[in-house]
Amino acid sequence: MQDKYDPKSIEPHWQEHWQKNDLFRAGARPGAPKKYVMALLPYPSGEMHMGHARVYSITDVLARYARKRGFDVFHPFGWDSFGLPAENAAIKEGVHPAVRTPKNIQSFKEDVIALGISVDWSTELSTSDPEYYKWNQWFFLRMLERGIAYRRRAKVNYCPVDNTVLANEQVEEGRCWRCGSLVVEREIPEWASRITAYADQLLEGLQRLDWPERVVAMQRNWIGRSDGLEIDFAVKGTKGKKAFRVFTTRADTIHGATFLAAAPDHPLVQELAPRTKKAELQAFAEKVRRASKELGEGAQAAEKEGIDTGIRARNPFTGKEIPVWVANFVLSGYGTGAVMAVPAHDQRDYEFAIKYNLPIDWVVRPADDEEVTQAAARKLVEGKQAFTDYGLLFDSGEFSGMPSEQARLAIAAEAQRRGIGRPAVNYHLRDWGVSRQRYWGTPIPIIYCDRCDPEHKGIPVPDADLPVVLPDIDVKAVLTGTGEPPLAKVASWVNTTCPRCGGPARREAETMDTFVDSAWYWARYLDPHNAREPFSRARADRFLPVDVYVGGPEHAVLHLLYFRFWTMVMRELGLVPMSEPAQKLVTQGIVKGRDGEKMSKSKGNVVSPREIIGEYGADTARLFILFAAPAEKDMDWSDEQVQGQHRFLGRIWRLVHSSLPRITGVKAGGAPDELRRRTHKTILRVTQQLERLQFNTAISSLMELSNAAADWQGEAGSLRESLEVLAQLLAPLAPHIANELWYELGRKEELALLKWPEADPQLVVDDAYQIAVQVNGKLRGEVQVDAAAADAEIRETAARDPKIAGWLQGKTIKKVVVIPKRLVNFVIA
Ligand SMILES: [Zn+2]
Ligand SMILES: [Zn+2]
Repeated sequence: MQDKYDPKSIEPHWQEHWQKNDLFRAGARPGAPKKYVMALLPYPSGEMHMGHARVYSITDVLARYARKRGFDVFHPFGWDSFGLPAENAAIKEGVHPAVRTPKNIQSFKEDVIALGISVDWSTELSTSDPEYYKWNQWFFLRMLERGIAYRRRAKVNYCPVDNTVLANEQVEEGRCWRCGSLVVEREIPEWASRITAYADQLLEGLQRLDWPERVVAMQRNWIGRSDGLEIDFAVKGTKGKKAFRVFTTRADTIHGATFLAAAPDHPLVQELAPRTKKAELQAFAEKVRRASKELGEGAQAAEKEGIDTGIRARNPFTGKEIPVWVANFVLSGYGTGAVMAVPAHDQRDYEFAIKYNLPIDWVVRPADDEEVTQAAARKLVEGKQAFTDYGLLFDSGEFSGMPSEQARLAIAAEAQRRGIGRPAVNYHLRDWGVSRQRYWGTPIPIIYCDRCDPEHKGIPVPDADLPVVLPDIDVKAVLTGTGEPPLAKVASWVNTTCPRCGGPARREAETMDTFVDSAWYWARYLDPHNAREPFSRARADRFLPVDVYVGGPEHAVLHLLYFRFWTMVMRELGLVPMSEPAQKLVTQGIVKGRDGEKMSKSKGNVVSPREIIGEYGADTARLFILFAAPAEKDMDWSDEQVQGQHRFLGRIWRLVHSSLPRITGVKAGGAPDELRRRTHKTILRVTQQLERLQFNTAISSLMELSNAAADWQGEAGSLRESLEVLAQLLAPLAPHIANELWYELGRKEELALLKWPEADPQLVVDDAYQIAVQVNGKLRGEVQVDAAAADAEIRETAARDPKIAGWLQGKTIKKVVVIPKRLVNFVIA
């Protein structure tokens, strides 16, 4: 027994105890409902950052709590070990990524263990391991067979001095990161993935996910579905043979379309513009191209500019002749490459029309405005802005008087009847380019043969020849940052034989985007050494989908979209039972430094977990991280708060040890008294706070209970009970000290797996009540709920109860009936 709280002497002991007894192995409770809790897999940078420590502290509380609630918990870990940072470091320092990476992993892993994270290490995988990336190649071939992977031409950043393609991260303010020369654009063939074919499925799936609203909104916007009309504006002087096709979501405003705006490189503009205009148009197109390069892909210039092409078209509804302009805000890659401009009802078109003195015709007015003349409409907005809301149509022929919603459909129907229009859907989402001109990634399993594939469409490597293993290289000779892709320089690897004709052939020298690695690692965790298939279907049925995924708000439209897409493909391949990978997403806030700024090396404000664990212990580090802010909010570093948590743990330590003479040999419990009521109300409260991920308030509740126990002068049985409960409730949050105190209290059960305590209903009578839980009308259990709980909380508490969760697992909940103080009924399919 020790008087002083000394984390250094107890934490390694318990970490060893957990590992030796293999306590966190998934699958150890075959009959129990499952819970899959996962953190975004890290890039192994060598030392764990505070941001990582925060993510793992959160998943660890959830995993430890779920184990004590009776779930069969899956809490894996792995390494996103391919990628550009290791390759850039190799170019600069000459150290082979295959040498550096395992060292970094080892060091990072020591930090994870030192923080007391309850990982099932039998799941551990590294994406740079051929055992893993073999299956990236296998997926690529399956996608190729289905037309989901395909070859296309794409624009890339190119350094003319180093003669090499640059990744976006290798372009700094338009210049090459290596030599500083201006980057130019080049078109090269690349492999792409047809994620656009899944656009609607990706949109619909969002409705059923328990994800932060902000991430859902970002994905919805990124997919950017708009429903509208494609309609043709015939070109004057072509006898109706040529027409500009435009896409619009506001067909109701078509009578106000007073000009067309086309992309500067629109093929019809190049074909039909009068010869006298051609030089001017070409100069404009070049200027726009350069500007968009400087601003970056998809960015829009603030100043709208354009020129009249001299071409004239006819508005198919008014019959009026209207000019065709080219404008810098119309992109050739989006929609049809041309839009109908309605300056009265679109702000961008309005500003353009004012600038270039183009006509403005008002055709929609606010529904509550009686005046319907052009003069009145113009006066209404005082010449400053367009009227962009829906309203009532006027000056629109037979459609005048119709509300916008109705007119949209009526005008679309009329355009269809006349054979000049058709309903159309547009997406902002583009296909995913997966080729990278780098070394440290998954080789793309393709071979080029001049004899049987003269156009170089690519011949798939046969499954039996997988994996195509990355060759070992002489770093100084190959990773130079110049010339062709690094693998093209490795003659012994790139030269191979054609799988079709047996003649000489060359391997694809490009590697895959590392977002491929992170698209499906969470499924491979289930079965990381399976050599016959990506993972077993039985394991997938048992543990998927992921129940709680913690990580990456910065990945909202990349990783978090790609892994959903990949899941949909895996479902089509019969590998998984569901089309969404993660039911609940928690996006943690960032950890700021002592100065309130985001931690970064350049600001010199970085606090390392290693430093804090070394000085105060892992339990203090965890409590500080969990207490400082709710999981999704940003948190500030505070040395005072770290010390505050350390003092709290020291107080509990002394409380237990100073109480031992009084409570040794005494049975926990006894007649109801003030401390026992407090103890059981704390059980109830902390349970609900952990269910809602309110770790900070859960820690406050434990502080209150420890204060009450310290002041207690009454029965020793009540005191013993409060201290045992304190250790139990502390176990998910600060597991080392909880285990040690549990042991000191003379309890021999395995705390990490011991059933979570339950509040005695008699002792929390004013705070809570028992409620019956039915599934399809049959009684399946009872749960305790807070007296003040709202319906939604009652429903959640019931659904999270392990017994009920077992009944609901894998089922679709059609309806939930809540009758407060009486019952909850889940109606499932
Ligand atoms: Zn360069
Ligand atoms: Zn061949």
